[in-house]
Amino acid sequence: MVAESARTRQNTVLSNSLPATAPLMNPRDHDLDAYWMPFTANRQFKAAPRMLVAAKDMHFTTHDGRQVLDGIAGLWCVNAGHARPKIVEAIRAQAGALDYSPAFQMGHPLAFEVAARLKRMLPGDLDYSFFTNSGSEAVDTALKIALAYHRARGEGQRRWLIGRERGYHGANFGGMSVGGIPANRKAFGNLLAWVDHLPQTHDLEHNSFSRGQPAWGAHLADALENIVAFHDASNIAAVIVEPLAGSAGVLVPPKGYLERLRQICDKHGILLIFDEVITGFGRLGASFGCERFGIVPDIICLAKGLTNGAVPMGAVTVRKGIYEQTIKAAPENTIELFHGYTYSGHPLAAAAALASLDVFEEERLFERAAELSPYFEHAVHGLRELPHVIDVRNLGMVAGIELEARPGRPGTRAFEVFQRCYEKGVLIRTTGDIIALSPPLIISKGQIDELVGTLGGVLREMGRA
Ligand code: PLP
Repeated sequence: MVAESARTRQNTVLSNSLPATAPLMNPRDHDLDAYWMPFTANRQFKAAPRMLVAAKDMHFTTHDGRQVLDGIAGLWCVNAGHARPKIVEAIRAQAGALDYSPAFQMGHPLAFEVAARLKRMLPGDLDYSFFTNSGSEAVDTALKIALAYHRARGEGQRRWLIGRERGYHGANFGGMSVGGIPANRKAFGNLLAWVDHLPQTHDLEHNSFSRGQPAWGAHLADALENIVAFHDASNIAAVIVEPLAGSAGVLVPPKGYLERLRQICDKHGILLIFDEVITGFGRLGASFGCERFGIVPDIICLAKGLTNGAVPMGAVTVRKGIYEQTIKAAPENTIELFHGYTYSGHPLAAAAALASLDVFEEERLFERAAELSPYFEHAVHGLRELPHVIDVRNLGMVAGIELEARPGRPGTRAFEVFQRCYEKGVLIRTTGDIIALSPPLIISKGQIDELVGTLGGVLREMGRA
């Protein structure tokens, strides 16, 4: 009976706002037990599920028919907004034309087209793309390519991989090893050997409430020189960083920091890998973070926005010399890199990528992000005087709002903010006590006001709690 009435109510609400095909559901009608949810408090979620049943443009529709403004582009990926007709149609048509094509020793045209498109978009001679199905796989692929490349050029002893504290490079063993988020590592002792870490770049004392890139902190890149001195340059394969660290709480690179990393890597023949899984495709108000910062890495990891989140896909794009050297080191007519995935360059993903890149271009979404950034910056910095706020930081269309942790209960305050915002119709994301905002780039100024206004209202409401 209860389920019936919920359905009837939902029907009424949905009929005004959703396509007729939208599924209706009551979480209690389903067995929620068997699904082990990723990076989720499973028991807490299953006790009070937050189910989404549809999405369009800037909004999700919840199981009970509410509209929720997407303040985080899904999970930093839906940069052009949800269910864009061109992308939906491309996937639909591709599923009917060629649902799957073997990834090894066979090809299909769209995967080549995506690679050619990325070559045109990326700066410098970042010309050759390898496809994966996720950001995590992109990172592990990039690390493997770095090692294989050095070996191909006769420096196979270069094995050390240098990550950074508070870095997030996905959940697989390579990415986890170079990553620097303690909670993601502590249960999985068997990490990669030959890994070291740079210090993280954010310091509340020196660069809190920075607008854009903080002035303090370029010198932190010099720690790479110490690491090089310690392990010897001749043993180091690559440095991997997110140009702007997203998942650990929006850590904006200090002015001059990335430039310094580039210089040190160049000096010692170390590859610089930018993990742009979040910062790619317009997030920072430029096509990629490397464009935004004017630095060409040797290898770039992409995912998320590549297909606007619609079909899983990642890419690793490398500079010409890396591809050419690795290819030519192998004997003619043999496989040059023993690496790949069943779904590398999957036809549906490739179709989604091409359509997404079209939408970004046709709607000038990267330029739009740049134009909107000052408005967004002004709005988020308006939160600075609110209770518990100890930092606000931003760049492009991403912002972090750091809250003071409750003594002995880290993370609970921000999570409560998340829950209250969701009840009020706004989706945000939290990491520990840091709130991240990263909306689709189609967001309007009015919706920025709604997003930040709702968050501000919740912070006020929670007062000193
Ligand atoms: N690298 C970065 C910088 C990320 O932010 C993420 C995910 O948030 C990943 C890698 C992992 O991507 P995926 O979750 O698609 O494996």
